[in-house]
Amino acid sequence: MYKYRVSIIGLGYVGLTTAVALASRGFNVIGIDANSMKVEKINNGELPFYEPGLRDLLIKVLDKKRFHATTDYKEILNTNITFICVGTPSLPDGRIDLSQIVSATKSLGNVLRKKNDIHFVVVKSTVIPGTTRNVVGKILVNNYGKRLGENLGLCMNPEFLREGTALYDTFNPGRVVIGEYDKKSGDILENLWRTFYRANQPPILRTSLEAAEMIKYASNAFLATKISFANTIANICQHIPNCDVLEVLRGVGLDHRINPAFLGPGLGFGGSCFPKDVKALISFSKDIGYEPILLEATLKVNEEQPYKAIELAKKHYNSLKGLRVTVLGLAFKPNTDDMRGAVSIKIINKLLEEGAKVVVHDPKAVANARKIFSDKIEYASDVYNALKGADLVIIVTEWDEYKKLTPSVFKTYMRRAVIIDGRRIYNPQTFRNEGISFYAIGLSEGT
Ligand code: NAD
Repeated sequence: MYKYRVSIIGLGYVGLTTAVALASRGFNVIGIDANSMKVEKINNGELPFYEPGLRDLLIKVLDKKRFHATTDYKEILNTNITFICVGTPSLPDGRIDLSQIVSATKSLGNVLRKKNDIHFVVVKSTVIPGTTRNVVGKILVNNYGKRLGENLGLCMNPEFLREGTALYDTFNPGRVVIGEYDKKSGDILENLWRTFYRANQPPILRTSLEAAEMIKYASNAFLATKISFANTIANICQHIPNCDVLEVLRGVGLDHRINPAFLGPGLGFGGSCFPKDVKALISFSKDIGYEPILLEATLKVNEEQPYKAIELAKKHYNSLKGLRVTVLGLAFKPNTDDMRGAVSIKIINKLLEEGAKVVVHDPKAVANARKIFSDKIEYASDVYNALKGADLVIIVTEWDEYKKLTPSVFKTYMRRAVIIDGRRIYNPQTFRNEGISFYAIGLSEGT
């Protein structure tokens, strides 16, 4: 059987999780990252970000010497398969920024130049169709003398993990997609994953490089569109007397053709993936001559959705000037400290623009929030301090800790108990029965 020795370039959420997971199942893995501070932290058993369960597993694989991190690309020469997991953010015009992919590929090419045995390169980062073949493949062939199908294998293996459940998703994916330049490369990668999954084999789909790249974009675009659809229905329900969107969407989601996942009302999607991936797909589509109006609408709905919280606040207070407003939740979703693209940023900026005094709380993301807002807002050490003296609270991220709060907590700590439930985590009737002014996305007056 092929003896895999794995290297992973880019130790962010995807790269580090993949590296640690592979190492925990007996693979020898080397992680390469350009950021020396990150590398040092990881080698000391610390995570550069918050992800449940990952630290314990990292410490185990470091102890067993199955994994270590380095900045030195030369260590790739001790491996025979390399996953590229660097970031692919948006450029200001929405197009994909491939600079990390290009620089990682060049550094990789520089060390592979000296290698004669076959080396397999797998792109795991989300990249627009054509990138694996025409950017990564071409750089390695044209600039570093590699020969595809001879001493260079090439695959595209999109990642579907979710932050907050990254480890679970890595061990239990719904499917694995392998885009391949040639059959041999695909066989090698399929065999690696089959070895990894042991008794828990997911469906493995073999495709062209471009189809694999497109599957990732199409999946994210579909989920983002489903969220914007749910929010559109919520915004309509908001104007229908006696109509709660939760009842409506429950009724819709029970149709097995539709399914309830990603069909909840809220303040829109954020994060490092959906917004930038939908934008990249739109720009790519336009560049190749198709105007993707459905996806443009998905983004437009999402851009406006966070401001629904402000609209609801203004139903209660004509002006927010001088009010003390508490924002509960900063991370783009629960169980992560990631604030990239978080809707909390838009909401806080708007509140500041309206002249409100903003106090925030988040179980994990405060350090990241400080980098964005510094001393423009107040950071509370716990939920109770956050609520103390507040005129209004907006639930922005649905952390479990917030779901457990009872009406009496809000009534005890707030100056005036006015709640905007941006994530529909509370029962409106329970709160209103306690005399709380309660507003929520998709909940019309009278409901
Ligand atoms: P990230 O920004 O957290 O991590 C990227 C890492 O790459 C950083 O540690 C950075 O220092 C390193 N890096 C950048 N350039 C480098 C270079 N030239 N050499 C070595 N290291 C370099 O990114 P992420 O969130 O892990 O995402 C990685 C890719 O996976 C992206 O394309 C993303 O769209 C995709 N993806 C992310 C998720 C997610 O939930 N975060 C899920 C699925 C897919």
